[in-house]
Amino acid sequence: MDVQVIRTVAEVRAQVARWRADGLTVGLVPTMGALHDGHLTLVREAGKRADRVVVSIFVNPTQFGPNEDFERYPRREDQDRALLASAGADVLFAPGITEIYPPGFATTVTVSGLTEGLCGPLRPGHFAGVATVVAKLLLQVLPDVALFGEKDYQQLQVIRRLTRDLDIPVTIEGVPTVREADGLAMSSRNAYLSPPERARAVALYQAMAAVAEVVRGGASVAGATAEARSRLTGAGFTAIDYIEVRDAETLAPLDATSAATRPGRIIAAAWMGKTRLIDNIPL
Ligand code: AMP
Repeated sequence: MDVQVIRTVAEVRAQVARWRADGLTVGLVPTMGALHDGHLTLVREAGKRADRVVVSIFVNPTQFGPNEDFERYPRREDQDRALLASAGADVLFAPGITEIYPPGFATTVTVSGLTEGLCGPLRPGHFAGVATVVAKLLLQVLPDVALFGEKDYQQLQVIRRLTRDLDIPVTIEGVPTVREADGLAMSSRNAYLSPPERARAVALYQAMAAVAEVVRGGASVAGATAEARSRLTGAGFTAIDYIEVRDAETLAPLDATSAATRPGRIIAAAWMGKTRLIDNIPL
């Protein structure tokens, strides 16, 4: 089955209204395209939770900083469309920029607290851009369920917070990270890696796994993360933005004692040459 491509908010609303009139439920998977098996896993999960699945592709300019990769972000809609058909999506919602941000657009959704650490200060404006576009997509499509990857763990918590705080009537589902065979988290940005960089990039996952193992064994978080940093540098990561152990829900720092009673998450961001990779695993 081919996927229906919709480019306007009015048309996506009309399609969803027709499904609703037929008593069907709707799932939404927001993406920026350049789809890989991580995205397609979200689409297949959506198909298990709802009768119809809408996948949005929108490379959202407001979540990129001025020196980030908005211009060179991979765009391949034809290939994405074929992949979506094979994963069972019903609609590809691919709006143009002025459909999402028409002239005069002046509203921003900001989520405090959760966005103050980790990627927040390193990417000023990023989470406001994400929160704003996700709030819009949820209100445009009004799905029963929307699925997001744990790969972007801080983003997932921000989205859970904003839907609760704004009373958006949707269930948010987090989906575990899909990885390559060696453990590297799938990401559209992996396409930027040269073959040698790609081979070295797996060290990020290995460093997090090592932190999990020693902290579970009772070692200090500070010692474990310091060791992980030198391991990453030794493996060829050119800069480390952070590798930390955080409370899985509040994202507050977690030490070995509190990690024994609270679910923890190891969260990391590091640069392999010009490519910034992020990843996380449960403690
Ligand atoms: P993006 O296109 O990078 O904005 O990602 C769209 C959605 O797919 C987000 O909810 C991501 O968290 C999710 N996602 C990206 N990579 C993966 C992965 N490797 N496994 C699971 N979900 C992912």
